[in-house]
Amino acid sequence: MGPVRFSGMRRTLGVLIRQVASPLGGGTAFPALSRIERELRQCRGAAAAASVLAERKAELCRLLSRRFAPAAAQALTLKILNLYLARRHFRERDRVLLSRPFGLVVDPSNVCELACPGCVHSRGSEERSVFDWPRGTLAEERFRALLRSYGPAAIGIYFCNYGEPLLNLRTPQLIRMAKGYLMSTALSTSLSVRRFDPDAYVESGLDFMVLSIDGATQPVYQAFRRNGNLELVLDNARRLVAAKRKAGRRTPVLSWNFLAFEHNAHEIPRAERMARGLGVDVFRVVNPFDVRWDDPAIRPAAVRPYVRRLDYASLSYPPENWNPFPGSLEAGAIASAFEAPWNGQAEAAGGPGPGHTCHWLYKNMVMDAGGRILPCCGAPRPDAKLVFGRFEGRDGDAFNTDMYRQARALFSAGARGAGDEPYCAQCEWDHSTVNIGSPEIRRYFRAADAAFFDRRSLRLLSDW
Ligand code: SF4
Repeated sequence: MGPVRFSGMRRTLGVLIRQVASPLGGGTAFPALSRIERELRQCRGAAAAASVLAERKAELCRLLSRRFAPAAAQALTLKILNLYLARRHFRERDRVLLSRPFGLVVDPSNVCELACPGCVHSRGSEERSVFDWPRGTLAEERFRALLRSYGPAAIGIYFCNYGEPLLNLRTPQLIRMAKGYLMSTALSTSLSVRRFDPDAYVESGLDFMVLSIDGATQPVYQAFRRNGNLELVLDNARRLVAAKRKAGRRTPVLSWNFLAFEHNAHEIPRAERMARGLGVDVFRVVNPFDVRWDDPAIRPAAVRPYVRRLDYASLSYPPENWNPFPGSLEAGAIASAFEAPWNGQAEAAGGPGPGHTCHWLYKNMVMDAGGRILPCCGAPRPDAKLVFGRFEGRDGDAFNTDMYRQARALFSAGARGAGDEPYCAQCEWDHSTVNIGSPEIRRYFRAADAAFFDRRSLRLLSDW
């Protein structure tokens, strides 16, 4: 056993000892969290809720400081209280939020060299200018500013929307920066890229990597992943697994995702065997979106989706990766966010009451590589207003732009008919499944300290 592997095992062991020792050290988060819940139930309006949370901030942070280092305790306090506030806004259907998005979706690159049907990059989409999707690469300064504004309160970030994240050679650095704010990190890639440094991704602190591979042979694979090179993909996957083994790390957890179409469904068993042979952690069969509007030959298969864990603990965040760089947390930025009052961040304004709404508008925020703010994973089109603002690097309030307010009001007040309204007015997509939602909240806090954030605490934090 080499020294690197030994240090990885020692780190895992240390985390496990801390997690087992928590109950022996006394208590869980539940009493403190349920007290906050009770007090919130008794107050009216988001501003009153914000003052309850402000009053409980120091006390909660003191409790967390018994188990976590000071910067981590402050960050956790902010993330927990932000969840409470976001849920409060959601329940009240507020139009203007004091809370921040607890999940971020960011494209490190808007570019992709593949041309899969149905995507903004497909040949048909580009020829017909179906989407409004400019090329571009995310500037590190813009991302640093985004993290300063939204990182302290966010629990997770997904580095991919419509671009291929591996085409930005600085993506491992971006991941590492997000880890400085104690965020869980994930990305999705085709792996069909020539310049790829697997060691950099393993060392970045990345938690999850989705490998989008929809075939086991080149002709079948490329029927959907156009311009993709399966041999290159498999070689990159092999190098990634080897880099993890060399570093003695369980992360990134690798999930081979297979979109099941009529043309490739017969290769699912073979792909699963290949995934096992490669040493990836999860094999997942997924029902794709229908892309027949773009290519009538590509039809979803009537196949039941399933998840096969090839490695026992593969669907959890490995606890040792929750805070992989404790010496380089962004303590200054976390401390100033901790000191900032919520009521200084935005003006609260309630909507007229409950009714259907879209979860995206309260939970996650999306930014493309050029800084455009989108409310969800829908791609902007000339006939679909989905650009809700632009994050220019200053600490503005990108989560409460006029478009965001209009979109929330469309649901809470039924304020329709202006003609120039957000696409939400006619949207028929799934309004309740967001990229970073309740399952991710539970995994996040379990990884932080599974004994302290026990089952009841997790329910309080993640039930919407
Ligand atoms: S209503 Fe539709 S377009 Fe608007 S944020 Fe939700 S999913 Fe996106």
